[in-house]
Amino acid sequence: MATRLWQPINICYCHHVDRLVALEAEMIYPAEWLPDQAPRIAAHRCSHGLDCNLDGRASCIWAGTNPNLDPFQQL
Ligand code: SF4
Repeated sequence: MATRLWQPINICYCHHVDRLVALEAEMIYPAEWLPDQAPRIAAHRCSHGLDCNLDGRASCIWAGTNPNLDPFQQL
């Protein structure tokens, strides 16, 4: 059975929440009996995205409230 894990792939300081946040990828690792298969990336999220989505302010693409702003691209 494949294993699904959320792993941080990038970190940035986000001014919207005044803290460090992580861009995470949902990795799907193959079952043990398929060791030659590389892991796949199923999805991305911000570690603080759910809280930003619920705080009532427009924030960024990862919270789904501002498609024109991606704090992880502003490094
Ligand atoms: S969801 Fe966007 S605004 Fe909120 S902490 Fe993450 S990067 Fe910053």
